[in-house]
Amino acid sequence: MKGKVYLVGAGPGDPDLITVKGLECIRKADVIVYDRLVNPALLEERKAKCKLIYVGKSPKGHAKSQEEINEILYQEAKAGNYVVRLKGGDPYVFGRGGEEGEYLYNRNIPFEVVPGITSAIAGLAYAGIPITHRGIARSFHVITGHLKDENEEVDWKTLTALEGTMVFLMGVSNLKKITENLMAHGKDPNTPVAIINWATTPRQKTIEGSLANIYEKALKENIKSPSLIVIGHVVNLRVSLDFYSQKPLLGRNIVITTGISQRRDIINKLRALGANAISLPTIEIKEIKPNYELDKTIENIHKYTYIVFTSINGVNVFFKRFFELGHDVRKLANIKFAAIGSSTAEAINKYGLRVDFVPREYVGESLVDELKAVISKDDSILIPRAKKARPFIVEELSKICRVEEIKTYETIKSREDNQYIIDTLKELDYPYILFSSPSTFINFKEIAGKDADDILKKSKIISIGPITTKTIEAEGYTIYKQAKKYNFDGIIEILLEER
Ligand code: SAH
Repeated sequence: MKGKVYLVGAGPGDPDLITVKGLECIRKADVIVYDRLVNPALLEERKAKCKLIYVGKSPKGHAKSQEEINEILYQEAKAGNYVVRLKGGDPYVFGRGGEEGEYLYNRNIPFEVVPGITSAIAGLAYAGIPITHRGIARSFHVITGHLKDENEEVDWKTLTALEGTMVFLMGVSNLKKITENLMAHGKDPNTPVAIINWATTPRQKTIEGSLANIYEKALKENIKSPSLIVIGHVVNLRVSLDFYSQKPLLGRNIVITTGISQRRDIINKLRALGANAISLPTIEIKEIKPNYELDKTIENIHKYTYIVFTSINGVNVFFKRFFELGHDVRKLANIKFAAIGSSTAEAINKYGLRVDFVPREYVGESLVDELKAVISKDDSILIPRAKKARPFIVEELSKICRVEEIKTYETIKSREDNQYIIDTLKELDYPYILFSSPSTFINFKEIAGKDADDILKKSKIISIGPITTKTIEAEGYTIYKQAKKYNFDGIIEILLEER
């Protein structure tokens, strides 16, 4: 069986700017070979057993040579794998994608290209610069600023004569040379210039000037690679078209430690607000299986007057089994539902069921206090929940009526290999790190191992509520802030206060 290589453009940085086809390739891949400009968030979409091979520059400055990369692609495909070669932007825009394709062609390995959105166009757009504009730029030119060899001739005269927008990639280290040569060959020193660093990412930074002064400005602002140099009058349109820099959480590094099943919603919300949301799943939900006690309870569900859910996972695991056993919601017609908080209530709503009771504060204490006021000794309560849950709720409610607790799942430490995320966290300056339960914190410490203390000490620790706070403080760390509403929306609220 022969494998195949997909040369996939990852887009310019924002993980949502990958193509539908590109994402599909990532989800199917057995092996992903990726480099520095690929947003690591895209790797979250890989399947559980996918092998990751990083070929970009390491912190020590070493990168794999093109020959080595070609050979890795060849060997992995020869071994029968579905290989994705993931590259920043579009694979054929200064990406050396063509060389990789040729290498595979010569060795009889089938291969396909999935084009990507190039930074040369999209990076400008995110800085409020349209690459063409009626009456201002009728063409555009994408040029390498990588002037390897002093003698390698750039035809400055022809370049200068072009009237369209000029975009230099890989050009910051040669900025002085580029601007000087263009002016020396007759380009107006007042021509507007912008430089966009880390375009379409939360680190995006843009500086503006003219051909005559942009070099000084770039030095002052310490602009480095990766950057796009844009030369032309379209730069002036930024005044009205710059939407991205308005995002409220732009530039904030926010680490989410929730399990895989729950992370999507909060990550999407944070990214839409401009944050760099990094997911490090610390927990996994493991259904208790087989669970005869649960099966029997579901069979006799009409005996209960209330079902109390204390987590989204509790809801989902219960209903999964309920439907698997062939029932439908009519069987629950005479039962009332209580949820510990609004997110848990929403999870119940998704099954087409309304929730009868949610306490004002989303903790066990409030649930018990307020529920006690509405139940009587004739009630019968079912609580399907995690294996190691606090006994408090069951103990308290039992004082009033019959309460039955069924353990339906356990929360275990994530088994994913996420060392590459830990490595990213070590590099970040003052990230926010969100903990949504005591186990996310405890597992984070285990997963990050010897790096945990360093990461936590330089992070702003955000806790979802008092129970989680207690665990974190008992471990000797200081909480930066605790959500006022004990759910993810509550966390987003306090992050937005930070502006
Ligand atoms: N294939 C890529 C370009 C690879 S060459 C594409 O189509 O976008 C690498 C150069 O691209 C960098 O030196 C920089 O000039 C530019 N670049 C890529 N991503 C960028 C980003 N997010 N912000 C600014 N420049 C970027």
